[in-house]
Amino acid sequence: EAKRSEHGPVCVFDRSMQIALDERVQLESQLRGAIPDQLHAVLQRQVDVEGRVIGAELLVRWRHPVMGLVSPARFIPLAEENGLILPIGQWVLETACRLIQRWTERPQTRELVLSINVSAREFIQLGYVGQVEQALSAHRADPRRLKLELTESAMAHDVERVVEHMHRLKALGVRFALDDFGTGFSSLAYLQRMPLDQLKIDQSFVRETPDNANDAAIVRTVITLGRGMGLDVIAEGVETAAQRDLLIASGCEHFQGYLFGRPEAIEDFEAGLG
Ligand code: C2E
Ligand code: MG
Ligand code: MG
Ligand code: MG
Repeated sequence: EAKRSEHGPVCVFDRSMQIALDERVQLESQLRGAIPDQLHAVLQRQVDVEGRVIGAELLVRWRHPVMGLVSPARFIPLAEENGLILPIGQWVLETACRLIQRWTERPQTRELVLSINVSAREFIQLGYVGQVEQALSAHRADPRRLKLELTESAMAHDVERVVEHMHRLKALGVRFALDDFGTGFSSLAYLQRMPLDQLKIDQSFVRETPDNANDAAIVRTVITLGRGMGLDVIAEGVETAAQRDLLIASGCEHFQGYLFGRPEAIEDFEAGLG
């Protein structure tokens, strides 16, 4: 990358850039060796207006032997670039199916829906639908208990493929949420084409409500849009009672955020259900 100095453009690859690159290369090779042993899954509860748990989102964590917990915000983008998202996604899918099957054994967990995040690159793989089918049947998991969270960026890759895969998975009973809604290159035409069950309001719109009137207006509009299209709407990143109250007043029925619970170990999530 060229850096501009006072004396005109010069091309500098400086020391800090070299360090950043080294770190990246190192992280990448370490991630390769970390799958699946250093991966683990945490769950964040999703609740209804009464605060009852209706499901959970599975979020992946990387327990690095030296660095400790590495945030998915750091390693998922890297994995999406180098293709490691495919084995990571496969591990997430298997982990989710195993959990869904186990949840059928207790009345407290039987009705829950488990959401997982699926990157565009995974979802548009030719064999993706078969991979999901295979994982569901191998673990005898009920497809209706699995929800896939896609982002608008998936549509940027290959609209036709995305829509086709969604329809085939829907036919199995799998559900879909559109994650981080409003942050991507939203197109209402795409929204109409996707067989969605749920819109997920991005936390960036929730963060400054109720004080920020523009954000409050966006939130209200997204809820109206979603409900008008017959979709369930869930807000993420709900941290305060004031945010929740505004969301409820705007017609939102489902919530996820620190106000209700942080991402936690699977055992803790299950124990919290009584
Ligand atoms: P996301 O799917 O939008 O997940 C929500 C993120 O917001 C999570 O961060 C969650 O811990 C965080 N969060 C939840 N409630 C609150 C809150 O009240 N306040 C604040 N400030 N944050 C909250 P996390 O776990 O670090 O994940 C970040 C992103 O990494 C996810 O965003 C998702 O895009 C990606 N990711 C996580 N797990 C996976 C995975 O298994 N596969 C793929 N492809 N991506 C994943
Ligand atoms: Mg998500
Ligand atoms: Mg999200
Ligand atoms: Mg988000």
